Amino acid sequence: MSQKPQATIAELLLRAAQSGLARIDAQMLLLHVLGQPRGGRAWLLAHDTDPVTADTQAQFAALCARRVAGEPVAYLTGVKEFWGLPLRVDARVLDPRPDTETLVSWALEVMADVPNPVIADLGTGSGAIALALQSERPDARVLAVDASADAIAVARANAAALQLPVEFAQSNWLEGVAQGPFDLIVSNPPYIPAADPHLAALTHEPLCALASGADGLDDIRRIITQAQHRLKPGGWLLLEHGYDQSEAVQTLLRAAQWHAVQCQNDLAGLARCTGAQRPD
Ligand code: GLN
Repeated sequence: MSQKPQATIAELLLRAAQSGLARIDAQMLLLHVLGQPRGGRAWLLAHDTDPVTADTQAQFAALCARRVAGEPVAYLTGVKEFWGLPLRVDARVLDPRPDTETLVSWALEVMADVPNPVIADLGTGSGAIALALQSERPDARVLAVDASADAIAVARANAAALQLPVEFAQSNWLEGVAQGPFDLIVSNPPYIPAADPHLAALTHEPLCALASGADGLDDIRRIITQAQHRLKPGGWLLLEHGYDQSEAVQTLLRAAQWHAVQCQNDLAGLARCTGAQRPD
């Protein structure tokens, strides 16, 4: 047993800040080791003079070190909230980003007047998009697709825990998918250019969920090509992409005669999603 004197919650948070950790990250990790609910930041403030045992201090220090080395908080706590749903996540899947909620709300908008929509989420990862859509549209038939058996396992476990009846298919985009035609195909595919220096900060996440060829658009090109034959007339394809890729994605869609090509901004006001309706 460590003989370290007990420190208080406030002292531990101060030490974490001094080691370069963002305050919110330190708070989430401390709540996790203390077994407190994730929403308990006010609890931390109210308990800032509480002593923390040496064991808990050691666990916290270990998680802080991993966070400083770049591991996402969600992998360290094992949970990420997306669209209000607590998702279990780990290094087998991309850490769901809040910006992807833009894609979910857009998808709900375009499906608002479609009864019993048939929807595919390509590259589902943790299942975030598929599960968010199914939670909002119990009448929808949602198929979650991923090439990675590991990702399907994570997403399936999330669907079971949330009791959402999403269906699953292991496939490289739509290649092996028998279902359809779809009213909506939605995807947050890998889209970072393979040589982008930004990837160096994301080494803890699966590269196959992040990078996609020289211009980052290899998978988006494949999805556009495959999706046009798998949508119902008037069906929508909605894609997330990099902050500077909307023009390029719009050009790809227009070149393939898609209709109503348009984009949506993310929370930071960047054109983060582009979509269109099936060509005739
Ligand atoms: N939005 C993520 C990032 O840039 C990448 C996710 C993706 O490639 N789909 O960090």
